[in-house]
Parts: sequence; C-alpha cells; structure tokens
Amino acid sequence: MAKKPGKSTGKSAGKKAGERAGKGGAKKSVDKGADKGGAGRAAEKSAKKSAPPREPGDLWETPVEESLRWVRGTDLSALDQAATPGWAGSRADGEQLMATRGEELADLQERLFAHGRTGGDRSVLLVLQGIDTSGKGGIVRHVVGMVDPQGVMHRGFGVPTEEERQHDYLWRIRNALPRPGYLGVFDRSHHEQVLVVRVDRLEPVRVWRKHFAELNAFETEVAASGTAIVKVTLVVSPDEQKKRLAKRLDRPDKHWKYNPSDIDVRLKLPQYLAAYQEMLDRTSTKDAPWYVVPADRKWYARLAVTELLTDALRSLDLGWPPADFDVAAEKARLAET
Ligand code: AMP
Ligand code: MG
Repeated sequence: MAKKPGKSTGKSAGKKAGERAGKGGAKKSVDKGADKGGAGRAAEKSAKKSAPPREPGDLWETPVEESLRWVRGTDLSALDQAATPGWAGSRADGEQLMATRGEELADLQERLFAHGRTGGDRSVLLVLQGIDTSGKGGIVRHVVGMVDPQGVMHRGFGVPTEEERQHDYLWRIRNALPRPGYLGVFDRSHHEQVLVVRVDRLEPVRVWRKHFAELNAFETEVAASGTAIVKVTLVVSPDEQKKRLAKRLDRPDKHWKYNPSDIDVRLKLPQYLAAYQEMLDRTSTKDAPWYVVPADRKWYARLAVTELLTDALRSLDLGWPPADFDVAAEKARLAET
C-alpha cells in the first residue's frame, strides 16, 4: 500500500495518489532495463525466470502484493475505497483476467489437496475482515467459489456461542484451522478480539490490549506448522455501505443478509476505523501480513483477492505427487480386465 502523507481531502485526491503509485511503479521497471543495457536485460531475464509468466490480459502495473500490502503507519482514513491500485485495465478486463486466474487457482488448489492426501503438511488460510457489506461473502462466493469445494474449510465467526465462551477466544479458531492440503477461509476471525470486542467494550482495555501480541504469537505458530496465511481487510466507504444496506432493505431476497444491528455498527464507524487502524498496524507481520483492499468496486476486490490467493498457492511450489504404485503394472492389469 502506498504510504500517504496525511488525510486525503477527498475521494478524487486519494484516487490520483493510487493511480500515480501504479504508473510510477510500471515506469520504474521500464527505465531499469533501458538504463542498464545488456547487464540490465540479463538481470531482468533472471528475475523473470522466477516471476510467474504474465498471461495475456494481465494488466497489473504493480503487483497486487506490493500495492495492497499494509505499511505500518499508513493513514487508513485516507484510503480511497473506490480506487483500483495497480490495475491498468477496465472492469471488463479485470473480469476477463479473473476467469483465467480462476483456472490457475483451481489447478493450484487441486495440487494442494493432492499434496495433503499424500502426507504433505502445507495448507493455506485466507482471513477475511471488513465491516458489514464490505463484501466478505462475495469473496467467498466468487473467488473461493472458483475452486473445488471439497478442498475448502470455510468458517464464519459470529458472536461466540455458549460453548465457545467456556473456552479461551482462540479455541474456536484453532478448531477451524485448515488441515493439511486444505484451503481454509475465515469470514471474520480472531481479529474480532481487537475490533468488536474493543468497540463494544466487551472486555476492559487492559485485557484486549494484550491480544495484539497473542494474535501475532498464534499466527507465528500457525505459519510454522505449514500454513500460508493471507489476511485481507476489505474497506468500503460509508456512502457505499449505506447503498448496500439500503439494497438489503429494499430487496426481499436480501433481507436475510440484513441485521438491525448493522445500523448500530454504522453509527460506530469512526470507532471501527480506529480499531482497524491499530489492528493493521499491530498485527501485520512477516508470517501473516495484512492486505488492505479497497472494496467499493466489487470486481476489483474480487480480482485482487484472486491474485493474492493464487500467489500464496504458487509460492508453495507444489508439483503433482508421484504415484506410489507401479503405473505400467497397473495399466497392464487394467488392460486384462
Ligand atoms: P455476520 O458476519 O454478519 O454474520 O455477523 C457476525 C457478528 O458477530 C458481527 O456483528 C461480529 O461483530 C460478531 N462477532 C464476531 N466475532 C465476535 C467476537 N469474538 N465477540 C463478539 N462478537 C463477535
Ligand atoms: Mg452482517
């Protein structure tokens, strides 16, 4: 995420900053090659070797990891929620790339699943945070929905149940962690312990303050056990949130998504902003970095999360597990049947 000097004066100012960051990033890499001549090109070539191949239709000017990765101290209130950081194409271009990436994502996820079935210990955990209407459910349907559901462990975290309250707050989280080979998806997460718990004063300050360090220690442990953690905070603007809530009220097919408490949360947006700011600053770590995704444009948020997830899976670098039987012998046996 590009660091911004201070509070933006408005949407358009923020958007320009985002666009500039994207264009600057692209220009820099072009200049590098031009200035360094042969040596530069050779270096670029070897860098390209490890970089994923660029598909036709890949119009990222800056890798999404770079544009969206949280930089401690960035002013969250200055974020333009309607921006499309790093993306040089249109909405239609974005939807097109998402379809191509979806195929790659599904292939990578199948490798992960096969890896788990053959004794591997790797898994991926996608953590989704964001206030009501920020589009967490849409990410699950449209991004996670592109892979084979049998390899997904999805869990939504609401108000703790009676049983959950008998245990410490990480108990229900540990129980929902993806097993080896699985893609885990958390719709809300352990981070609510420094969000709703803080805003609604469900615990005294001295208690919830300790959670920052606990969350980090927990995630370090989860990462060490073989889980690649991708944490995403979706950020929707107050105006867009109002529109989405109005739609939920207008349409009978959306009433199930509405909760009268959504208005109470809306009234506390400044408190949530402060809570999110501190959560991002204090729980974005090497093992579990936060990516902050502007979410007013659903197509962008979905494309960005698709990229983040695809990249996390690519990084595992999993091949297809070799057969633990004699392929030729099995072919011969099959032929005889
Ligand atoms: P939804 O995501 O719309 O299904 O809503 C889930 C609700 O559960 C939200 O209002 C959250 O604030 C609330 N929630 C999630 N985790 C906790 C928690 N640890 N303590 C209290 N409320 C929570
Ligand atoms: Mg809700």
